[in-house]
Amino acid sequence: MESNNDVIIVGGGIIGLACAHYLIKENVSVRIIEQDLIGSGASHGNCGLLYFSGVIPLCSPGVVRHEIYRTILGTSSLYIKPTLDIPLIAWLIKFAAHCNATHMNAASKAKNKILRYSLDLFETLFSKHAIECNFEKKGTLFLFKNKKYFEQYKSTNAFLENFGFGAKALDRDEALQLEPAITKDIAGAWYNEHDWHLRPEMLVDSWKKLLIKKGLIIEEKSKMIDFEIKQGKIRHVNTVTGQYKADAFILATGAWAPEIKKQLKLTLPIQPGKGYSITMERPDQSCKIPCYFYEKNIVATPWKTGYRLGGTMEFSGFTDVLNKKRLSRLVSGAKEYLNTPVGRPALEEWTGLRPMTYDDLPIIDRSPFQNNLFIATGHGMLGLTLATGTGKAISDMICNGNAQINLAPFSMDRF
Ligand SMILES: Cc1cc2nc3c(=O)[nH]c(=O)nc-3n(C[C@H](O)[C@H](O)[C@H](O)COP(=O)(O)OP(=O)(O)OC[C@H]3O[C@@H](n4cnc5c(N)ncnc54)[C@H](O)[C@@H]3O)c2cc1C
Repeated sequence: MESNNDVIIVGGGIIGLACAHYLIKENVSVRIIEQDLIGSGASHGNCGLLYFSGVIPLCSPGVVRHEIYRTILGTSSLYIKPTLDIPLIAWLIKFAAHCNATHMNAASKAKNKILRYSLDLFETLFSKHAIECNFEKKGTLFLFKNKKYFEQYKSTNAFLENFGFGAKALDRDEALQLEPAITKDIAGAWYNEHDWHLRPEMLVDSWKKLLIKKGLIIEEKSKMIDFEIKQGKIRHVNTVTGQYKADAFILATGAWAPEIKKQLKLTLPIQPGKGYSITMERPDQSCKIPCYFYEKNIVATPWKTGYRLGGTMEFSGFTDVLNKKRLSRLVSGAKEYLNTPVGRPALEEWTGLRPMTYDDLPIIDRSPFQNNLFIATGHGMLGLTLATGTGKAISDMICNGNAQINLAPFSMDRF
């Protein structure tokens, strides 16, 4: 048996690291157990947006109709592998059932609170620590080819304005003036100044080094097998490299969280939502602001040190196969919006699994069955953005018994 720690975090993604940060601030000793390398999951090659204006859940009115229409046209960024996988089918049915105004309103309110909380915490994090990650506050530019969609976005924006996250409409000339890298046949753009961006793999690396200096212990290549549970308490975690004991445990295994749900008797309706990215040197005429290509659901993120195209959503189970056709769609999609959509050389082609819940809300809760187990997963498309809020909330639950924000919308009771 390895020596005791106050807290063991299973899963070394951005959520696990953020939990470690706030716990270490409280003088808690922390060990992270990671099956591969720290930051090797979804937290590595994502688009790097701190997308604070991402208040509206994916499941909102009209989404199913819109995606069916786009699938028929062959323009959808969504792919669902034909399957008899019952949990996936049940998940998709529940997702569709949540595409209504009541859920959108409730989920937006809940997301808004944790997004704002995360924003403030990121502000403090970057002001107090020298974390190298190409962090910039430049907003996001939503680009539209289709005039009708551009105009329809007005009602989406009116909804966002209720939360103080509204964007500014730009006609073609104004958009070109703000971002000369975009093509001249753009119908219009909405510029949201509230979003920030950074290079996620640099954030993971730099934050990890900072935490190691402050005492974080990391076990890599140490896949969790199961937990040893006695009288409603977890005693230790069994991994391929040994047993580790602690007073409290955090499950932060992202899309893989359901693997252990049977032993823990938990309901964790998470499906892996596969996405792709290509990382390159910056193109000659690179965009300077992260651009979201609305009709394609693709993001182009420029950094001082590089450039990334990312997006697509595939429900095809746990697979890390790099589908070249899906990857090439990132480039062909970007060609429609940017004059120089690719940079050379291509440095990395990547795929990652987002932990998707059917109501598009994360799970941040204490286990109802093991009172020293805390769950932090299901962050879907926003795990990077919500990392600080989640980490602080989990740390407060462990250290003070309660979080500063209302976690009821993120509890497992809802399933
Ligand atoms: C293409 C793409 C673009 C995205 N863009 C953005 C964006 O711009 N902004 C944003 O906010 N979010 C974005 N996301 C979402 C974001 O990447 C995720 O929500 C976030 O990374 C989830 O973090 P995590 O720590 O929960 O999961 P992960 O980073 O996947 O970490 C979980 C870790 O747990 C480990 N693990 C799993 N099982 C075990 C086990 N049994 N034992 C030990 N370790 C285990 C895994 O190896 C992994 O390292 C994007 C995602 C994708 C795919």
